[in-house]
Amino acid sequence: MAKPVEPRAEPDLRVLPKVDDLLREAQDDSELVNVPRGALRHAARAAVEGMRARLRAGLAVDPAEARARLREALEAARRGSLAPVVNATGVVLHTNLGRAPLAPEAVAAVAGASQACALEMDLESGERGARDAVVSRLLRDLTGAEDATAVNNNAAATLLAVNTFALGKKVVVSRGELVEIGGSYRMPDIVRRGGAKLVEVGTTNRTRLEDYRQAWTKRVGLYMKVHTSNFRIAGFTEEVSLKALVALGRKKKVPVVHDLGSGLLRKDLTPALSGEPTVAASVEAGPDLVLFSGDKLLGGPQAGLLVGRRAAVEAIRKNPMYRAMRLDKLALAALEATLRLHAEGDAGRTVPTLARLNLDAGTLRRRARALGAKLARSGVRLELEVAQSASEAGSGSAPAVELETWCVALTRPGEGAAETARRLRLANPPVVARVRSGRVWLDPRTLAAGDDARIVAALRNAYPT
Ligand SMILES: *Cc1c(COP(=O)(O)O)cnc(C)c1O
Repeated sequence: MAKPVEPRAEPDLRVLPKVDDLLREAQDDSELVNVPRGALRHAARAAVEGMRARLRAGLAVDPAEARARLREALEAARRGSLAPVVNATGVVLHTNLGRAPLAPEAVAAVAGASQACALEMDLESGERGARDAVVSRLLRDLTGAEDATAVNNNAAATLLAVNTFALGKKVVVSRGELVEIGGSYRMPDIVRRGGAKLVEVGTTNRTRLEDYRQAWTKRVGLYMKVHTSNFRIAGFTEEVSLKALVALGRKKKVPVVHDLGSGLLRKDLTPALSGEPTVAASVEAGPDLVLFSGDKLLGGPQAGLLVGRRAAVEAIRKNPMYRAMRLDKLALAALEATLRLHAEGDAGRTVPTLARLNLDAGTLRRRARALGAKLARSGVRLELEVAQSASEAGSGSAPAVELETWCVALTRPGEGAAETARRLRLANPPVVARVRSGRVWLDPRTLAAGDDARIVAALRNAYPT
């Protein structure tokens, strides 16, 4: 028998204008004559839908605002869906906001590569060159690995490693390391789709070298160690060091791959994350390959980096799937520029991701105060306070680490924090902030130069006076 449905007070949706009426009105508007009909229809729909959402959320809606909403929707469509937003969340590597912000040098390199560029040409001889040659050399220098290459992302790197070394064979992974990274990436699925069979060893909290040894048969193609990027197992735990696994792999003639995820090159780059494992340490332990992302703690574009032994990297390059997962020239240009910044030795300051992680509490407090003062002068009615809080690295990097920060916590009198945050997201430019304890928090740690003024502009157009 069906459950009785609870009666619920529904808002009166009849106050909303009809999309067709709004569209007809817009078509008669002389200022909109050049806008294609499809775009107008889309904007009219977006305007009415936005008003309906507000009604459903229990907010007041004035039918007369429909035309203004339609114009806003047209304007937003013209800006494009990937136009810049202000990241005020305090999450340095915000996956939903595109992870690592690129350095100006990387942005310039992308612009340079956007036209014809020597992607696969040796300009000296005019002959064909390898597209990963420079990135490979920089990665070798930076990590101490014998060889290196790059593909589309770390998921692709993992898939490729499994497929190259364990196609039709088994991949041995500890039960404590079967991670899921943000829904669409689950280690067991990647192994299966890579053409291998997963063999889980140990338990969730304890895995010993003996477990890997006992799992060995002639059918084992790969021992894989995975950094538990976005979670921590604490308490009664035991894991096998990469070094011990490498020694076992060598004895059994089974390749060893370390999926490191966040890819911090060296400890001194960001002292705040001193607990994160480093690429240099993993390479030093001697596995066949170390895999990591380009857009996490390296601070570059989306990419998957594979560094390690010469024969292993060569085997990766020979896999036909490598071509299907290769980097495009724009990402390659940004990656090369980012690696150069690392090579120049001051990446803790020049690579924005690392520079933001390295901001100290005193600087952040000063910046929060300056932002608060600008907001107080903005003419928008707000209650403001500069308050202590915590930022995070994000993207599964160092999940247990809280970085001390100072924020501007604001409320708009008479409005809930969720609604204020929504208005900021829909403003021009969009501002994404954190909502906590009934207030909207703006964290200067993740703001770029000029963002203070952008936040003031966004508030002014979210709350016109
Ligand atoms: C982030 C992460 C991945 C996925 O990397 P992408 O570059 O996002 O594809 C894989 N493994 C680990 C351990 C990670 O932390």
